[in-house]
Amino acid sequence: MKETQIIKFSNILGQEKAKRIVRQALSKGRIPHAYLFSGIPGVGKTSLGRAIAAYLNCKNREQNEACGQCRTCNQIERNNHPDLTVIQSEGDSIKIKQVREIQESMRFAPFSGQFRVIIIDQADTMTEEAANAFLKTLEEPPPRNLLILNATEPDNLLPTIVSRCQRVAFVPLEANLIADYLLREIGIEEKTALVLARLSEGSLGKAIAMAQTDFLERREKWLQCAMNIPTLRPEQLIDVALELSNEKTPGGNATPKYEIGGLLDLLGVMAMWYRDLLLLRQAGPDYLVFNVDFLGQLKYFARKFKLLQLYESLLVLDQAQRDIRMRRNKALVLERTMLVLRQLASGV
Ligand SMILES: [Zn+2]
Repeated sequence: MKETQIIKFSNILGQEKAKRIVRQALSKGRIPHAYLFSGIPGVGKTSLGRAIAAYLNCKNREQNEACGQCRTCNQIERNNHPDLTVIQSEGDSIKIKQVREIQESMRFAPFSGQFRVIIIDQADTMTEEAANAFLKTLEEPPPRNLLILNATEPDNLLPTIVSRCQRVAFVPLEANLIADYLLREIGIEEKTALVLARLSEGSLGKAIAMAQTDFLERREKWLQCAMNIPTLRPEQLIDVALELSNEKTPGGNATPKYEIGGLLDLLGVMAMWYRDLLLLRQAGPDYLVFNVDFLGQLKYFARKFKLLQLYESLLVLDQAQRDIRMRRNKALVLERTMLVLRQLASGV
């Protein structure tokens, strides 16, 4: 993996519309006080923020891009420039303490004499206190400061914050773009790259995080379990559920942003399995299948299920994901889910 970060617009994967909106504003010198970048994690929001910081501060800008060579560009590339700050949530939220630190830094002019760019990742996780404090900053921002708020769920932000930002929407990336990137930049073989790209649901960051863990091996185990559900006895299924609910996330939670390998991920894998079955049951095209490497098994099982059984199974998995997010008892949620899925698969 490369240690350096993307700092050129042209190196950001996809997101042509977002790039066009931002570059037009920059080239005309119409820089807003704040941007709100909305979209799922891992689609290039922070990279675009970094490219803006490089563009605004580069000493040898050429053809509407940062040069990528000067000291400023190098510092931004290594995440080590005094006028670029990337704020990440602490625990599961952005705290008021972090907002105060932003406010403190904005009392001074940018160090380089150019532009200060502050990126707040997962800004939609701000606590109420933090959001109220932040609103004051947005009301009277000092000149030559650009705030960039990244949010998966912009509706979770205060409307008064949203109305003071210029919104730019980021879309999920095409699977082919992600697969090409994994092949070209990380050296992942073609078939695996395509599986990861489909399973990432358009998030390059998630695809990379999955590639760096034992996600694919775990997924095989989980899919095997999904295939066994109709034939296992209830008590066997409860054992499986218990075992799965005790699994630890690999890498000591190194990738909490994408929940790789956790229980939510397992339920996500199961849900994709049923979505594939539903697609094939309705004679959908193979190229829309997520689990491309299990196409044979999927086709076998798709013939056996009735449509309603598949819809109901998806609803059960959706409910289970919500229950886990609400921090309900993991073992209970999983046991119930497995048993209901088995019941729904009766006759299969
Ligand atoms: Zn430069």
